[in-house]
Amino acid sequence: MDTKYWQSEDLKYIWHPCSQMKDYEELPPIVVDHAKGINIYDIDGKCYKDVVSSWWCNLLGHCNSRINNAIKQQLDTLEHVIFANFTHKTAITLCQKLVEVLPKGLCKFNFADNGSASIEMAMKMSFQYHQQTGNTQKKRFMALTDAYHGETIGALSVGACDLYSEIYKPILMDIVRVQGPDCYRCPYCKDRDNCSCECFEKAIETFEQFGEETCAILVEPLLQGSAGMKIYPPLFLKKLRELCDKYNVHLIADEIATGYGRTGKMFAFDHTGVSPDIMCLSKGLTGGYMPMSVCVTTQEIYDAFYADYLTGKAFMHSHTYAGNPLGCSAGIEVLNILKDENIIETARKRAGYFNKIIKEKFLNLKNVGEVRNIGLINAIELVKNKETKEPFNSKLRTGYQIYKKALNRGVLLRPLGDVIYFNPPLIIEEEDMDFVTDVALECTNEVLNS
Ligand SMILES: *Cc1c(COP(=O)(O)O)cnc(C)c1O
Repeated sequence: MDTKYWQSEDLKYIWHPCSQMKDYEELPPIVVDHAKGINIYDIDGKCYKDVVSSWWCNLLGHCNSRINNAIKQQLDTLEHVIFANFTHKTAITLCQKLVEVLPKGLCKFNFADNGSASIEMAMKMSFQYHQQTGNTQKKRFMALTDAYHGETIGALSVGACDLYSEIYKPILMDIVRVQGPDCYRCPYCKDRDNCSCECFEKAIETFEQFGEETCAILVEPLLQGSAGMKIYPPLFLKKLRELCDKYNVHLIADEIATGYGRTGKMFAFDHTGVSPDIMCLSKGLTGGYMPMSVCVTTQEIYDAFYADYLTGKAFMHSHTYAGNPLGCSAGIEVLNILKDENIIETARKRAGYFNKIIKEKFLNLKNVGEVRNIGLINAIELVKNKETKEPFNSKLRTGYQIYKKALNRGVLLRPLGDVIYFNPPLIIEEEDMDFVTDVALECTNEVLNS
């Protein structure tokens, strides 16, 4: 059967995520056969460089032999088991290893099967904590402008990307919105590398007004991914930690995208010297192999639920696939590989080269407003006017045009609006960096000059 057959059968049955299916008339789905490292191969043998880590989850390359073996071994031992009152060595071992690398104080693990579910769990956990510790007035949540925390109703509520949430507003929760940093278009005209987070005064005002009635604030630490890879300084989070302590508001770190070395350290919070009260992990957790997430919290929060059954204080939250052994086996091997193969350190060294060539190639283009980077993540924001930072008319779909051209030439870019970005597996090498940035540059020039 050839490509055309599989494509038409696909369109007969499958409703793809985050897609206008009518776009598929012009750009039908690529039928993938296999993948290795950063390369994805379609059934005709054409190669695509996966520089978006398949939606930011693939950490160590596709079909990593060590992870493959770990899952295969687990598969022949225990595929899944109920996780209430039952446990298994694989989940326990994963927690033992995670505790060693997590920010101080995070030690109690609640498992789920995707990022959004872990966000929901964090919100419910925080709310119930306050209910059970005498602060029944705390019923609201705060989140930053331009936030993204997932697609389920609670997670979508705390998010602020209109593209995903606009139509659902009538059925979403009423969230207290905290003005977050906007470093490229800084209203205080400061520079993110040496500012004092002057913008934080807005957060102070919002806490003064709503802190008492708030359970928790959710943040994507240092990097607001879906907002267009917006990057802000660690100082903002340090200040936020203090403010949260002052108002007894939990700090929930959504490290679903930033965890696992993406920012140059194991977790984005490692740049700050402070710890959140709850941390959500998912994308890198299994190396991008298995759908799994964890919501990790402190002894203090855990203790507020620990009582005789009849007090009704238990956290009655569950997901069928909680603690799935296959996911946990991948999770353990990912941590082993990060350590044995010195992955994060190597990636950090190569990140310097990646950023250098991207700046050399893109910065002088007339429509490149900013090149920003953290770890191996590099984002190129295209604007209509470099001086005023005026964006392109979104109806032109400039980013999408570039995406289509790059696919043709074997690079999977998938921009966020008009922000072209690279978020490759941590194992990417210099040769591939050269190739993917060359292709991105050619495609960008073609689209901008047409
Ligand atoms: C991907 C993502 C989520 C949602 O995770 P899903 O597994 O897609 O539900 C939440 N927050 C952030 C920051 C993410 O990048």
